[in-house]
Amino acid sequence: MPIPFIDLKAQRQQIDGRIEKAIDAVFAHGHFILGPEVHELENALAEFVGAKQCVTCANGTDALQLVLMAEGIGKGDAVLVPDFTFIATAEVVRLAGATPIFCDVCPDTFNLNPKSLEIGIEYAKTLGLLARMVIAVDLFGQPANYNMINQLAYDNHLIVVADAAQSFGATYCGATVGNLTNYTTTSFFPAKPLGCYGDGGAVFVNDENKATVLRSLRSHGKGAHKYEHVHVGFNSRLDTIQAAILLEKLKIFPKEIKLRQNIAKRYTQTLSPFFQTPYLDKNLTSVWAQYTIQTENRDMCIEKCKAAGVPVAIYYPIPLSQQTGYQNCPSIPGGMPVAKNLARTVLSLPMHPYLDNKTQDFITDILCGIGAAITDDVATGAIA
Ligand SMILES: *Cc1c(COP(=O)(O)O)cnc(C)c1O
Repeated sequence: MPIPFIDLKAQRQQIDGRIEKAIDAVFAHGHFILGPEVHELENALAEFVGAKQCVTCANGTDALQLVLMAEGIGKGDAVLVPDFTFIATAEVVRLAGATPIFCDVCPDTFNLNPKSLEIGIEYAKTLGLLARMVIAVDLFGQPANYNMINQLAYDNHLIVVADAAQSFGATYCGATVGNLTNYTTTSFFPAKPLGCYGDGGAVFVNDENKATVLRSLRSHGKGAHKYEHVHVGFNSRLDTIQAAILLEKLKIFPKEIKLRQNIAKRYTQTLSPFFQTPYLDKNLTSVWAQYTIQTENRDMCIEKCKAAGVPVAIYYPIPLSQQTGYQNCPSIPGGMPVAKNLARTVLSLPMHPYLDNKTQDFITDILCGIGAAITDDVATGAIA
């Protein structure tokens, strides 16, 4: 049997029968758009993270776009983003007509480097742009450094958005991701820690007025009734069927987070003598959207893993600033050497809550075999 990178079938077995029942209930009442399950889910998610409001939408990219629209971000505005993330983080800024400024990330956490952010804010001024927002990303499931990012944002009048597409359920100094910043967005894409069976997303916000604007924007900018339009919005709603599915998945989610954390711990115990394993700040928890090692010998690792039937992936092979579609966007002075190095050395391993010990041992045996043959990885520190 091939080893899956993410095993959605194993998860499906955990909730067998309950998913069918939940979907049947939607068929029975017939409210496929913004039906009762959507409202139930929004309440459950808001409670889960401890935010006042949750506004669901069609996907995690739209969640970001809704926030930019709600804040009127556009031409002449700069939005600071990390260089090492999924493209959606910068894509929405360009779509809004604003300018993303790429900042570097930390070599240990892979998340936005506050020092680099500070440089980016100053740089925006020299470009004649108004720095209005920072979108921090909780890469691979670990929250960014929000204490420092929030302080810098406060000092410079920036709105802080946490792109938590990979970190829903993680904690930061005891608080759950979702109410650490002005806005938090997440994605329910099937491969994310909390995924549905299609596309889905959400925005978390404590400001009730902003939540009202977000709800309007996701339904064509509607006002008091369906055919009154007070904003220029678009169509971005979470299907009722996906909400019904997420309600069932949310029930097993806390247990799944623990399973992911145990698996990550086992990986680190076995692999750390041979590879640069993920660093986790002691005040944070990760939901391990990915388990990512660094190696100077990546091509060899990929080749040997492939031969042994172990699926691996590179998140991400090209920093955003080097993407053809984004080459005309500004980067901070000094560039982003850490992002560039990570793109060259990162390697993500199979990670999901149902990865059993035997399969994991098989994976780590392969990797340790390669690691033992190459001695320079940990010694020289792929991190440098
Ligand atoms: C997945 C992801 C998104 C986009 O989510 P979609 O639901 O696929 O639109 C945005 N940002 C990050 C960091 C992601 O990993």
